[in-house]
Amino acid sequence: MAARSSIEWTDATWNFVTGCKHISPGCDNCYADALSHRLQAMGVNRYRNGFQLTLHEDLLDLPRRWRDPRRIFVNSMSDLFHNDVPLDLIKRAFTVMAETPRHTYQILTKRADRARHVSASLPWPSNVWMGVSIENQTYAFRAKRLRDIPAAVRFLSVEPLIGPVKLDLAGIHWVIVGGESGTHARPMDATWARSVRDQCRAAGVAFFFKQWGGRTPKAGGRLLDGRTWDEFPSSAPHLQALYGGRSGRAQEPFGTAAAASNDKEHAAAAAGPRGLARTPSA
Ligand code: SF4
Repeated sequence: MAARSSIEWTDATWNFVTGCKHISPGCDNCYADALSHRLQAMGVNRYRNGFQLTLHEDLLDLPRRWRDPRRIFVNSMSDLFHNDVPLDLIKRAFTVMAETPRHTYQILTKRADRARHVSASLPWPSNVWMGVSIENQTYAFRAKRLRDIPAAVRFLSVEPLIGPVKLDLAGIHWVIVGGESGTHARPMDATWARSVRDQCRAAGVAFFFKQWGGRTPKAGGRLLDGRTWDEFPSSAPHLQALYGGRSGRAQEPFGTAAAASNDKEHAAAAAGPRGLARTPSA
């Protein structure tokens, strides 16, 4: 299952769950859905069920084998807090995360209610970042659920941004904004992106502008008002070790250029503009 990732703000993916179900308009052009079907068509055994939820318990220990510290996106091909993911499996994943403090784990969900509900029965080691996706004002409530989760870093993935959004950023450390990409990409209005950036600046929250989006992820570039915005949260103590004390503002994002990988999953993801957005799911 994929190791190196081409997602701008992470280094690797850990997909011990694949498959999901659309839950809100941000899912309409789900990257994981499209890629899962492509991999199924290519005969990749892990994706034999297409986009149906599938557990890969044999991959739970994968991060233990990665000796070098990595930022790991947990289940980029699913949503960890999908109702059909057993709580016991989630607990075992958290044990792996707690026992591999050299890594930083990034979890992203649209199931903010379940995440909050089960959060009390999970350990929250400082190397686990917890995020929710928000695509427009209707789903801004997910930030409120996130606030109740005792993660060291709480972040919002405002991607794909498909409408204006006013956020309550209390208790939030990091916000990522991105436009949609792919054949059916919905355009992001510049005023929506600027508004989120300005809300972050007013609240002292780190802001990462990922991309404008368009037909391909790079079609519109990464400049917002003439510059890149590559801020990372600075409050997590383990980042000091990971980045040699350079944690915080204006860091160069890891993995901006797709790292070489020879597995079929990345070959499919890297294959030209065929309607796939290189967008983290959930
Ligand atoms: S993986 Fe994420 S974007 Fe895709 S269907 Fe599930 S929640 Fe929606």
